[in-house]
Amino acid sequence: MSNGRALIVVDVQKDFCEGGSLAVTGGGNVALAIKEFIAENEGRWDHVVATRDYHIDPGSHFSENPDFVDSWPPHCVVGTEGAQFHPNFDPRVASAIFDKGAYEAAYSGFEGHSGEEELASWLRGNGINTVEVVGLATDHCVRATAVDAAREGFTTSVLLNLTAGVNPDTIASALAQMRHEGVELQGEPVGA
Ligand SMILES: [Zn+2]
Repeated sequence: MSNGRALIVVDVQKDFCEGGSLAVTGGGNVALAIKEFIAENEGRWDHVVATRDYHIDPGSHFSENPDFVDSWPPHCVVGTEGAQFHPNFDPRVASAIFDKGAYEAAYSGFEGHSGEEELASWLRGNGINTVEVVGLATDHCVRATAVDAAREGFTTSVLLNLTAGVNPDTIASALAQMRHEGVELQGEPVGA
């Protein structure tokens, strides 16, 4: 029986931090806090993995007149600076990086691939049964990633102090959904 633990760092990218095209308030601080948390907790996880929103042509996910629910300003386009990890986060701590959303909206890291491999099978193949989720944004990609982790059968926690969200209302509904799906919420959300 596998009993490994992984940290999933969601979308700590320049476009989701201050100065980016779809900035989340506090994003840069969250990136730094994640880096420090990883450095201070060596041995807590068997693996750290990271996800990236990594768009080429995601269709209606991008809009000139975004509703900030289903459509968004262009962000995290492959080859642009905004798609890069925020400099406060060092991706060299990650055993693997999972890219999602090349040609569609993809909020969950479980839609992502590292080469040919999907996140769920990668985690299982590495003996992981427990995941902790941190990153950006609480109400969108962190929410979707944590919900999918729980649905895939992983024991799942979100460390809210290491997340930041877009909007207090959608953060509140995200927290409710995650609880409903059996995700353990630790700490207090930033931005709520
Ligand atoms: Zn996106």
